[in-house]
Amino acid sequence: IPSSKLRESLGSIDHKSYPAYKSLKGEYRFPGYILSIDHVQGDPFASPSHLSIRLPLKDCAFPAEYVQDALARTTLADFLLRQFAEAIGRYSFRAKGSGKSGLIMVSRCGQEVFPRTACEITGEELIVRFYVGFPANGRTINSGELETILFDFLPKGVQEAFFYNRLDQKKLRDFMNLAEDQQALRKILEKSGMAAFVADGAVLPRESGISQKPMKGAVPFHSPERLRIRVDLPHRGPISGMGIPRGITLIVGGGYHGKSTLLDALQMGVYNHIPGDGRELVITDSSALKLRSEDGRFIKDTDISLFINNLPNKKDTRRFSTLDASGSTSQAAGIVEGIEAGSRVFLLDEDTSATNFMVRDSFMQRVIAGEKEPITPFVSRARELFESAGISTILVAGSSGAFFHIADTIIQMDNYVPVDITERVKNLLKEYPAAEDEKPAFCMPAQHQIMTRPEVRKSHKDYYGRTVDQPERLKIKTLGRNGFLLGHDEIDLSAQEQIADPEQVEAIARLLKYACENLIDGRRTLKDVALLLEQEIQKKGLSFFREGGYVTAGCAIPRYLELYAALCRFRRP
Ligand code: ADP
Ligand code: MG
Repeated sequence: IPSSKLRESLGSIDHKSYPAYKSLKGEYRFPGYILSIDHVQGDPFASPSHLSIRLPLKDCAFPAEYVQDALARTTLADFLLRQFAEAIGRYSFRAKGSGKSGLIMVSRCGQEVFPRTACEITGEELIVRFYVGFPANGRTINSGELETILFDFLPKGVQEAFFYNRLDQKKLRDFMNLAEDQQALRKILEKSGMAAFVADGAVLPRESGISQKPMKGAVPFHSPERLRIRVDLPHRGPISGMGIPRGITLIVGGGYHGKSTLLDALQMGVYNHIPGDGRELVITDSSALKLRSEDGRFIKDTDISLFINNLPNKKDTRRFSTLDASGSTSQAAGIVEGIEAGSRVFLLDEDTSATNFMVRDSFMQRVIAGEKEPITPFVSRARELFESAGISTILVAGSSGAFFHIADTIIQMDNYVPVDITERVKNLLKEYPAAEDEKPAFCMPAQHQIMTRPEVRKSHKDYYGRTVDQPERLKIKTLGRNGFLLGHDEIDLSAQEQIADPEQVEAIARLLKYACENLIDGRRTLKDVALLLEQEIQKKGLSFFREGGYVTAGCAIPRYLELYAALCRFRRP
């Protein structure tokens, strides 16, 4: 339909009641692009209408290498989305009216770069998806204001944001080149058997608890000599920084010396960051998993016997279930789930760990006999995890020396500067022999978590007054980056610190709903379901997030590990 028809339709529904807006649903040809009105809100206070814009990629005239592979496309899409959000943001609420009238809502990208439904580059098209509050006075359509948005604001935003010759080409080149350098660094990590890399000059601390922007005036990162490696990046050329080898790495130091800040930077190093973030060249094994204690979480049929045995209530810890886990059982379950999900690097911070899960000192060991203590602490298992399962650990420990015995690498943070103290500590260790350690033999946890779903039934009276039971359609309500409601169940993801954006939570919610409706059958294991979901994403990409015939804005593809974590936290009968 030509856009002139849209103008006519707008004219004809002015001053009508709000639902008349529904008639606008459809696709309209504008000069250079197609505008699609995918879904129209029911009233001015409801969540805003879904719109998308498609334009032929060749008209945008990007250099061929910017669209050559998945990484380039994701990076370019992210850049363009940021430009569009900036260009169009100026016009939000410039059109006036009641409720959400005039709102123009484009995904806000943070410091990380990942695939989002808000902007997608497919074979030949660039697709942008966003929301607009269709304007009204009270509940009466004000289509003149919508006309301004669709025929003035949007075309300007499109012109400014999506055409190569209109963009800041150097800024875009830096953005694209950085992604290639980050990719190259990841490959180097893999090849050289390292768990993480922190470039010299990196700025790790953030501006504040609520801002992920780099702290101004921070002490830049400076690698200790023995851990310093030099790598050659395709664009930036030779750089140096600290390579954290596989194995067990301990980060120690006094309080406030920057230990947690380093670990926080490492945990987000699984993602690419934007230029100027400060952590652009902080790269961590992409399967790295931050683990913390999580009192009160749900656990079902999980084999935590690696860490917990002989509970006084004789509960079988090879199939442990609880609705309300303690600090130590929650952390044990988290580790077991991390093993199942295929993580190769565990990140732990004493600040957020259950102390009795992490260590037990030798004095306590003498006082409380082995068979009276159900917990085999993490310190007694970390070595075996590496040697038998190939999982490295990077651990922040401020208060217990017990970890020194098992560490391969010891980094002391001293006034925000890392110092390699491995040799010094190894010499001291001769004077402090390790306490002997009675514990059950190491064996990999067994997997026997069957996925079931709570059957939600709604009964209502039919025409003849009979009671009819029918499965309720699962509704999703996301709770920011902290989790979501699926039907009546709350899935709490607040302990998943590596979730970088609420759009990842939205995507996880959709995936879990899909699993409930299509995959969970009372026979498949949790891992089966997780792998099938992952396959769906691999196969369909962003078009997985199709709903009612169109793909919605507001979803970002999560990592497999966070998806897995969500399945584990889904309270099933
Ligand atoms: P720790 O875990 O060792 O107790 P934190 O990592 O929490 O210490 O850091 C303590 C404070 O120091 C934080 O407020 C943090 O923002 C700040 N900080 C961390 N690293 C740097 C740095 N490189 N430059 C300046 N301030 C920093
Ligand atoms: Mg700390």
